[in-house]
Amino acid sequence: MSRAAISEATFAAGIPSMHNPTSFPDRVAVLGCDGFIGHHLVERLLSMDGVEVVGWDRELRRTRHLLSNPRFHFRQADLASDPSALERDIASVDAVVNLAALCNPSLYGSQTLDVIRSNFTDVEPVVRFCAQAGVKLVHLSTSEVFGRTLRSWLPDQASALPRELDVMDEDRTPFLLGPLSSTRWSYACAKQLAERMIEAWGRERGLEWTIVRPFNFIGPGMDYLPGHDGEGVPRVLACFLKALIDREPMKLVDGGRARRTFLHISEAVDGLLRILARRRDTSCQVFHLGKADNETDIRELAVSMRSIWARLRQDPSILEIPLQDVSSEEFYGPGYDDSDRRIPCMNKAQTILDWTPTLSLEGALTLTLGDYHLRYPENKR
Ligand code: UDP
Repeated sequence: MSRAAISEATFAAGIPSMHNPTSFPDRVAVLGCDGFIGHHLVERLLSMDGVEVVGWDRELRRTRHLLSNPRFHFRQADLASDPSALERDIASVDAVVNLAALCNPSLYGSQTLDVIRSNFTDVEPVVRFCAQAGVKLVHLSTSEVFGRTLRSWLPDQASALPRELDVMDEDRTPFLLGPLSSTRWSYACAKQLAERMIEAWGRERGLEWTIVRPFNFIGPGMDYLPGHDGEGVPRVLACFLKALIDREPMKLVDGGRARRTFLHISEAVDGLLRILARRRDTSCQVFHLGKADNETDIRELAVSMRSIWARLRQDPSILEIPLQDVSSEEFYGPGYDDSDRRIPCMNKAQTILDWTPTLSLEGALTLTLGDYHLRYPENKR
């Protein structure tokens, strides 16, 4: 893989070129390649001269248009359905990016066993096959491993605690999950155990690994829009987009007080490419990919999305779409709990990856909603 080709691919996406991109893998397996992050990553990998991608996914929605590319080798299967094929494919690549996961909060309490299986049980063979073949594993975990901030567990002292305490550091911040009755934390717990298993395979059996914790990536192709191209409750961006497109109330769970930081997918993928390009520097390390100053609470997010949408549609009546308070029990069912706040510490990604995302929240939302505006014209259902 030539330095020029990688630089060209990153410039094409409007992102500064990578520093020292000389060791980029020739052949990468992307497990969960048809998902939101997966399909953006595969598109970028295939835009680089000569890079081959082996993609696994049980679905073929977002990557169908890539099938004609001779450097894309797609297997439509669950990770658990054909272990020997998975082992062969892993042995044939230089690096594996594991994105295969159920990662939608509406499932954590309603399909808990599937959530634990996909986020822990199915990860074990991937880890083992990578270790046996000496293949680098880049595993996508979650910012949700942190659960809730210390502040949220100490309401009496909350106002005395500094903001820095809420900033999540890769190697120091503790994981503060709730009790068993809060079934929400099944996902965080499965991801945590997978992280611990990967770390142990590295220490005891020589696996070369990098764990990435995404902090709320957003962009085109997120989840699905209920009633348009799927059914159920997707993540907040898709819920709000569906409401805007169908002119329905935007629902604020428990007052929309939870806070999130959002990162545009193009910058997130740039971070992942830098990890792939820096095999040695990123080995046995956890990285947070997120943008600390793109923080908002969910109520403000709804207001921002509504005004951007009104601007894109050139229709001021969109500003009258109501915000509606709903309880989490009503919206998600029993057992729901919430991360109150997620701010990534960005020092490690800045220092080791030379990666500093620049798109503001307004910019990231405008790019994302702009894509949905084109894909979902006014009266298309
Ligand atoms: N949320 C909301 N309205 C919706 C969907 C989600 O208020 O229609 C809230 C949810 O309770 C949480 C936040 O938005 O506080 C982000 O939820 P999301 O499902 O995107 O995933 P999370 O960041 O919690 O993993």
